[in-house]
Amino acid sequence: MRLRNIPGSREVIAESPFVVHDEESMKGKWREFFGNDNPIHIEIGMGKGTFIMESAKRNPDINYIGIEKYSSVLLRAIEKREQEKEQGNDIPNLTFIRMDAEYIENVFDKDEVDNIFLNFSDPWPKDRNAKRRLTSDRFLKRYTNIMKKDGKVTFKTDNIMLFDFSVETAKECGWNILVETRDLHNSEYNEGNIMTEYEKKFSDLGHKINMMIITQ
Ligand code: SAM
Repeated sequence: MRLRNIPGSREVIAESPFVVHDEESMKGKWREFFGNDNPIHIEIGMGKGTFIMESAKRNPDINYIGIEKYSSVLLRAIEKREQEKEQGNDIPNLTFIRMDAEYIENVFDKDEVDNIFLNFSDPWPKDRNAKRRLTSDRFLKRYTNIMKKDGKVTFKTDNIMLFDFSVETAKECGWNILVETRDLHNSEYNEGNIMTEYEKKFSDLGHKINMMIITQ
């Protein structure tokens, strides 16, 4: 993801009705926010938001929250969302947060989240940065603290090193592996798959897409 600083992106985000700005005050209140008891699915590191917007359009009975760390990237998701609105797609079951997922336990209460999606997360290839990977033991513990017991984490990547690390870490931390495929697009699990921006880019280059689904 090109992280060019886009002048004015923070101002646009501050004024956007598609972004929750006081996210920590929402802890335990997300069902009130959406005005229903539907399941809550979150995507961490949503990038420009293609996956989560399509997911929300296809599943109006699920509430979606897209989390992105960088303003310049979130800005692109907001622009896309504005275009959707202009085309008559309001997507009331979707909102965005700009935050570092490191602090996710400040934003969601125990059992508040049903499913988590991690798509093409940054690999942080150096060992000394392993704790920053969104599938590290530290992050898995954070997910345990906000997810329902039968909730699932779905993780897709083209990066074999990160995928091996993620499967091993999940096993070591006592998670159950429900799905593990190293060629998602040619597997039985591809039906209904929603491609992310990175997924499209890498599969067009001939990379195989790995996916794991884990539960506690
Ligand atoms: N999910 C998108 C896709 O598959 O096309 C984008 C993938 S991009 C490689 C990873 C995204 O995760 C970037 O937009 C990055 O800013 C975001 N990200 C990385 N670490 C994050 C964190 N700790 N909290 C929130 N977002 C994060």
